[in-house]
Amino acid sequence: MRGDNLKEWIKKNGAWNKGKKHSEEQKKKLKLAWIKRKEKGLGISWNKNRKFPQYSGENHPMYGKKHSPETIRKIKEARKKQFGEKSANWKGGITPINERIRKSKKYKLWRKEVFERDNYACIWCGFKGNLHADHVKSFALFPKLRLEVDNGRTLCIVCHKKTDTYGNKRKDIPMKTNNRLLKLMKFLPEGVTTI
Ligand SMILES: [Zn+2]
Repeated sequence: MRGDNLKEWIKKNGAWNKGKKHSEEQKKKLKLAWIKRKEKGLGISWNKNRKFPQYSGENHPMYGKKHSPETIRKIKEARKKQFGEKSANWKGGITPINERIRKSKKYKLWRKEVFERDNYACIWCGFKGNLHADHVKSFALFPKLRLEVDNGRTLCIVCHKKTDTYGNKRKDIPMKTNNRLLKLMKFLPEGVTTI
């Protein structure tokens, strides 16, 4: 969705107008433009203050009637298509997980603890830069172990890429799940690249 993309963009880059203030001159111009729009009747919803006596109250086609169970079922079905699982915007129910992870201080703490235990060095080659906290048992498949320090290991990016759980190399889970995980990865905390 366009709006969502924009929100994400703003989150990443900050709003382009953040910290900028309109000058007095600009403010005047904006105000004038707004007044002009109003005079022309623009910017006002087409149905504002309009009444449709022919369709309201007793005249409404549904006045005093009830939808048949069949119609109710159809309405529900249509709603499902608009929202939720059947919607084209459905991303596999990942939002609650993203939210939890993104906001999670525990997760950052887990990373820090793993790094500290491994003395901020790759456990395979000893390199001390570009470190990732990797989940030995996959983030996706072992949710209960996500925050277990014992399930974490410090790897440099080079060694990390060699693991078979790095990025989208996962072959042990079906493609559908894999796509969902890829989307999820965008929301992982900084430095965590494996799920
Ligand atoms: Zn390494």
